[in-house]
Amino acid sequence: MQQPEYMLGVDIGTTSTKAVLFTTQGRIVAQHAVEYPLLCTTPGMAEQDPEQIYQAVLAAISKAVSTGRAEPGQIALVSFSAAMHSVIAVDQDGKLLSNSITWADNRAGAWANRIRDELDGHQIYLRTGTPIHPMSPLCKIMWLRHDQPELFARSARFVGMKEYVLFRLFGAWLVDHSIASATGMFNLQQLDWDQGALRMLGISPAQLSTLVPTTHHLSGLAPAVAQQLGLAPATPFVIGANDGVLSNLGVNAIGPGQVAVTIGTSGAMRTVIDKPLTDPAGRTFCYALTAKHWVVGGPTNNGGSIFHWVREELATAESAAAKEAGHDPYDALTKIAEGVRAGAEGLLFHPYLAGERAPLWNADARGSYFGLATHHGKPHMIRAALEGVIFSLYSILPAVEDLIGPTTHMMATGGFARSALWRQMMADIFEREVVVPESVESSCLGAAVLGLYALGKVDSLDVIGAMVGSTHRHVPIPENVALYRRLWPIYAAIPKLLEQQYRQLSQFQRETAVTSS
Ligand code: ADP
Repeated sequence: MQQPEYMLGVDIGTTSTKAVLFTTQGRIVAQHAVEYPLLCTTPGMAEQDPEQIYQAVLAAISKAVSTGRAEPGQIALVSFSAAMHSVIAVDQDGKLLSNSITWADNRAGAWANRIRDELDGHQIYLRTGTPIHPMSPLCKIMWLRHDQPELFARSARFVGMKEYVLFRLFGAWLVDHSIASATGMFNLQQLDWDQGALRMLGISPAQLSTLVPTTHHLSGLAPAVAQQLGLAPATPFVIGANDGVLSNLGVNAIGPGQVAVTIGTSGAMRTVIDKPLTDPAGRTFCYALTAKHWVVGGPTNNGGSIFHWVREELATAESAAAKEAGHDPYDALTKIAEGVRAGAEGLLFHPYLAGERAPLWNADARGSYFGLATHHGKPHMIRAALEGVIFSLYSILPAVEDLIGPTTHMMATGGFARSALWRQMMADIFEREVVVPESVESSCLGAAVLGLYALGKVDSLDVIGAMVGSTHRHVPIPENVALYRRLWPIYAAIPKLLEQQYRQLSQFQRETAVTSS
């Protein structure tokens, strides 16, 4: 019998690197994840050790290959997904001068404000598609230049995490258009580094990696590394794309009008179009998947983290009781919220506990319960929190639809999809059918399918359609829709009214914060 052919999708994420071995038809054969910590020893810092992540990539691949009992000759390709926005300073020889400064690092906040307000930031956004925010390498390199001038002066290059892994494997500094399109330094029309952005930073293109399409592939692993990984030295490695755009591909949300909504710890809404597009009002990002697939959307800081906060801080006793009875506290809290009608009898929750990205792009935004009355109790507060997360995601939709026209289908993924109540809220607030794709590692599957396409093994990314099934479907319930429609304008008005108060209060919080050691 002929041996099956496999593909390996590798996702270099913020909490772990996952390697998934698939058949070329998209069935999972084996997978392995290796976790690593986020280093947060000073306020705003969120760094990772690049060497530790490189070792995690090697370990995840070799374990997935050995668990799947795949022979080296059976593996048709390895293809990468990676978290966006990381920056690592390296010297002439590729030696590390800094850790990987991740998307979650906020220390470039003041520079983000200055770039936006004083340095023509909006024009840079319009050319590059990355909102001006401390997450972006543009703001981080500006911060390094001014706040760590010695390090900046010693740095031969600024690279991202996937670039570092590829450099270690193949000795070349390459960056795919997708990771590059999330740096704030990549001109979407010219498919080249943006001269204006680089001039502002005081760096040259030689200090960044060489740009290649997401379908670019390399081979020629050192024999010892190949042996360690369980691969043939000639195995093609496809550079791949960023984890957000690959997640759209991995859930089969790449057609016109299809929106992928993810609520994990944070959340995002994304849709695919055929050319790059930025928002005159600056509300959305635009990242590359391939030359013909561009992903427009917005991220939210406050997704499942809100339910986590409810579990730990608000409904502590209820969560503890559920745990003691051997139940999942999230399920128990969902049940409590089910006892309250849609709309929480007029209680609204704005979930900006961690500031907000799209569509507000305001790190100073703060959360609030609005409308509290004596008839409200904890069940209302739990329900309103879940609804608030969906409302805040829904508030990204007008920005996306202003750009690309009406959206029709919704695919929902992430930890929130474990709750039928939360999924139904999404259908009711968005007034659309919500489909939950079969739970797979979507970014890894997206990477692997992009790899098939890159190597000419398939003609189109549409093959993904046959690889992704669905688990749940929810259609809007008309009476809930009617209640949410009445509440939505009230919800949407609040953050606009409170901009100044958000700023004042967050400043107060910073000045009076008691930091625990
Ligand atoms: P990550 O983004 O870190 O990969 P997940 O996609 O697993 O995380 O999402 C984690 C979030 O999923 C939690 O913060 C919680 O809000 C939500 N969640 C987990 N389990 C449940 C559940 N049973 N019901 C509702 N929400 C849940």
